[in-house]
Amino acid sequence: MPAPYVYRFGSQRTDGAAAMKNLLGGKGANLAEMCRLGIPVPPGFTISTEACTAYTQLGRQQGRDALLAMIDGEVREGVAAIEAEMGKRFGNAADPLLLSVRSGARASMPGMMDTILNLGLNDEAVAGLAARSGNERFAWDSYRRFIQMYGDVVMGLKPTSKEEHDPFEVVIDVLKTQRGVQLDTELNAADLQQLVQRFKSLIHSRLGRDFPTDPWEQLWGAVLAVFESWNNERAKVYRELNDIPESWGTAVNVQAMVFGNLGDSSATGVAFTRDAGTGEDLFNGEFLVNAQGEDVVAGIRTPQQITLVGSRRWAELAQVSEDERRATYPSLEELMPGLYQELLAAETTLENHFRDMQDLEFTIQEGKLWMLQTRNGKRTGAAMVRIAMEMLAQGMIDERTALLRVTPDRLNDLLHPVFDAQALKGATPIARGLPASPGAATGQIVFHADEAEAWHKEGRAVILVRQETSPEDLRGMSVAQGILTARGGMTSHAAVVARGMGKCCVSGAGAVHVDPKARTMTVGGVTWHQGDWLSLNGSTGEVFDGRIPTQDAELSGDFGKLMALADAHKRLEVRANADTPLDATVARRLGATGIGLCRTEHMFFQGERIQAVREMILADDEAGRRRALAKLLPMQREDFEGLFRAMGGLPVTIRLLDPPLHEFVPHDDAGQQTMAQQMRVPVAKIKRRVEELHEFNPMLGHRGCRLGITYPEITEMQARAVFEAALNVQAEGGQPFPEVMIPLVGSVREFNPQAAIVRKTADAVFAERGAKVHYLVGTMIETPRAALVADSIGKAAEFFSFGTNDLTQMTMGFSRDDAGSFLPAYVKLGIYDQDPFSSIDQKGVGQLVEMAAQKGRAVRADIELGVCGEHGGDPASIGFFHKAGLDYVSCSPFRVPIARLAAAQAAVG
Ligand code: PEP
Ligand code: MG
Repeated sequence: MPAPYVYRFGSQRTDGAAAMKNLLGGKGANLAEMCRLGIPVPPGFTISTEACTAYTQLGRQQGRDALLAMIDGEVREGVAAIEAEMGKRFGNAADPLLLSVRSGARASMPGMMDTILNLGLNDEAVAGLAARSGNERFAWDSYRRFIQMYGDVVMGLKPTSKEEHDPFEVVIDVLKTQRGVQLDTELNAADLQQLVQRFKSLIHSRLGRDFPTDPWEQLWGAVLAVFESWNNERAKVYRELNDIPESWGTAVNVQAMVFGNLGDSSATGVAFTRDAGTGEDLFNGEFLVNAQGEDVVAGIRTPQQITLVGSRRWAELAQVSEDERRATYPSLEELMPGLYQELLAAETTLENHFRDMQDLEFTIQEGKLWMLQTRNGKRTGAAMVRIAMEMLAQGMIDERTALLRVTPDRLNDLLHPVFDAQALKGATPIARGLPASPGAATGQIVFHADEAEAWHKEGRAVILVRQETSPEDLRGMSVAQGILTARGGMTSHAAVVARGMGKCCVSGAGAVHVDPKARTMTVGGVTWHQGDWLSLNGSTGEVFDGRIPTQDAELSGDFGKLMALADAHKRLEVRANADTPLDATVARRLGATGIGLCRTEHMFFQGERIQAVREMILADDEAGRRRALAKLLPMQREDFEGLFRAMGGLPVTIRLLDPPLHEFVPHDDAGQQTMAQQMRVPVAKIKRRVEELHEFNPMLGHRGCRLGITYPEITEMQARAVFEAALNVQAEGGQPFPEVMIPLVGSVREFNPQAAIVRKTADAVFAERGAKVHYLVGTMIETPRAALVADSIGKAAEFFSFGTNDLTQMTMGFSRDDAGSFLPAYVKLGIYDQDPFSSIDQKGVGQLVEMAAQKGRAVRADIELGVCGEHGGDPASIGFFHKAGLDYVSCSPFRVPIARLAAAQAAVG
């Protein structure tokens, strides 16, 4: 392979550029780019990934000799160039040049390889550093840190077992005990000098060789160690998990060290080109005079603000007077105005160049500014939106880039209440569960849904804590601030319903032991009683003791602009899963263009309806069932009217009854007694019926269209409610558009009789009223068989809506309600990349979706194709559905904005 292998960067000559990431790695390429922009960067050079590949192919000993032969000359020239620019000599005893050596692969591989700092120090150079800095302690501390890093990373002196402590730290602890001090910072220069001796002895005795004092030997050792690290276990595992090819190799960056702790004309700091918290277009950051980089973040000294504006804002918050601020905490702008102007110029150049908010690190060494790093800065969801929209308005980025800049899931930060950041700082979680439904909630614990309602009526904020929730808990859930369950996964009842309500929920917190009788919950021996305060973070799954104040979300103007932009680019429509007019109104406000799933059974639990439902279940014959259904009809009709009104002319997909009937009857003695009294039947009859309804696998049992097939009168009542409601709303001047959906179909012979009842009922109602509405009859595709025979079903059904919850459950053979006991382990082991109930399993379940979509389209060109499983709100899944050519996704109302953005990203991506 031809030279060069070494690419220099600095003020005199820069060989690389940002575009050369493959050859120079990400870090090396960006350092070179900064130099090209005329930004002052400590000079250095990058040894290319090709050198690493050549070395790796030859193996350790042969590789070492070959590599040295190959790059020795170029590296020596590189070091000479650094010496020339810094005016110092490598290995010089009076004023030594010190180097940092860092790995840098094409893709960032955090933690793969430690950095080596202060390379070039030895017993002579340390004296030079002490003299030059006038700070003996600093010089010896730098030296002992270097030996420690080098001994570990390059020489391999690490703990030999999990139980063993880091051998260097053990030596430090012994010395601290001998000196009677607690902290490293309490060790003085003489102590640190002693430590250097002990470290060297440790290396000699443990490794049988000496710590190298020749700077060149140090340098070669470090370079080879970085190349070796490409093939350490950690790196291999990381590569496998992230699909990074072994052939890439890593580059090595060798760079002059600069110090911010060489007196009062030195400083170090971090800065952001815009506010990472709010997104405001305001340069900001912190610095410390006479300090090392880690001091700024260590929190021992109070960092000062870089800009005067920032400094004044800080002083107001910290309640520091203007006089004290100016005297004790002046901004960099006031303290070093010239250097501040230089920094300002650099930040402007970098942001304009990279066209994104930059996170910068800098050091001022004896009055000279050096930029050490620039990278795209991490930011809050709110800042993401504001920065993207403002950069678009400022003409810095185009619409496509603006859309891709916002991570859809981060919109959650804007849509739900969040904890007060200050209050959260002092809180430690007592348990963790799944982040089932985002938001922050704080309230008093109750253990029963009816008690949640009662407490709510008294004006109290409650957190409903349950082992797991069931449809009976619905009303309690709807009034609670948040829901915590000890069992259940991401598609458990609690999780699905809470997401639908936009309510904070943490599910499956296994460490929480719930005793609903005693009205207590216990975590690790500590007990909470009814009425105690608890706080939940549904975005992280954390459970906190006590009361943490929350703040309401604000949908700012930039949010609206982003949504409008998304709508202009997306192809997929976004509908919402909504069961009530309130849900529907929220969904429309958040931009839904239809209801993709109304789970009608949710309406059955409200008020006296449950009694009519139970009467129907208990009835001995069809006539009895029809009597009960007649009571339900007006209630269902009213529900549907509400939905049609809320949705205007937009489609409303109404699914016929789906869950197994046992979900509607009480299973405990007390509940059965009450039911017997209310219905005036012997309790034995109730018990018998409940037993009859018991199923071993209710999810694969008597549910979905199987109910309508065996009890056609249920389908008839629901269809009548739909069409009567539609005609009533039409008579008011509305434009209802019902889409009636048959659940859990596996054969067209199940679909046909159900569709026939719907159509016949529609005709009957239309004839009675002398009016009509346009409607569709379609099916869910949620059994694997339905996907396989989608061509035959598609001939009869006007739309398909993929029920990817059940489709995942049945395709993978994982119970939606029980997978929590093994799925996390599966994901951890990498058997599946992620929870297939959260993000669609593209290779397996996804194949069925693609195939059914094609088969459907082949037999009915205008068939409407949608998704109403939980995946409809997952950005990665939405990308997949876009490619599969579906027409819409449907998700819980609060995920609608996320889905709109994800759909736009899929379209422009
Ligand atoms: C589904 O199975 O994906 C679906 C939407 O139906 P449910 O979750 O109500 O079973
Ligand atoms: Mg289903």
